[in-house]
Amino acid sequence: MKTRLQVFHYRCGKCRQRYDALHLPDSHYGLFLMRTPIDGELAILDALHDEVYDEVDTILKKLPETRGMSALKLSDLLQGVFSVACDPSASGCEYSIVAEAACPGCGAADSVSWVASEPPVIRELQLESPTHKNWLRLSASGKISAVRRRVASRK
Ligand SMILES: [Zn+2]
Repeated sequence: MKTRLQVFHYRCGKCRQRYDALHLPDSHYGLFLMRTPIDGELAILDALHDEVYDEVDTILKKLPETRGMSALKLSDLLQGVFSVACDPSASGCEYSIVAEAACPGCGAADSVSWVASEPPVIRELQLESPTHKNWLRLSASGKISAVRRRVASRK
C-alpha cells in the first residue's frame, strides 16, 4: 500500500545522537505503522481489515488477566501484544506497533525525544501489511498461550 509518512527528528537522550524516523502524518482510525526498532523496517497495518487483529483482540478479552480492564487499556494492550501474531521482517526482527525508532548510535529506544518536521517533510513509501503465517499454523490453544505469555511479559 502506498503510504504517506512524515519525517520526525529524533534526539537520543543517552548519547545525544540526532536521527530521523518516519511516522504516519495524522491518525487514521485503525491504521498503524509497525516498525522493527533497530533496523527501521516498516509495515502498515490496516487493523479494520486484518482478521488476525480481531482474533487477538477476542482472545485478549477472554483472558482472566484482562478482566475488568477499561476499553482504553485493552486497546493499548492489544497494540502492545499484537507482534506475537506477526511474522518477522526480512531481517528476522519483530515488527511492533508501539516500538520507538531506536537510536542508531547506541540502540537506546527508551529515552528518545522527537519533533515533527515543520513544514512537514513527507516521504511516500510502498509498504506491505504484516503477514501471519506462523500465527495461522498455531492451534487455538497455542494462540491463547502465546498471547498470555506476551501479556505476562509486559508486566
Ligand atoms: Zn543513542
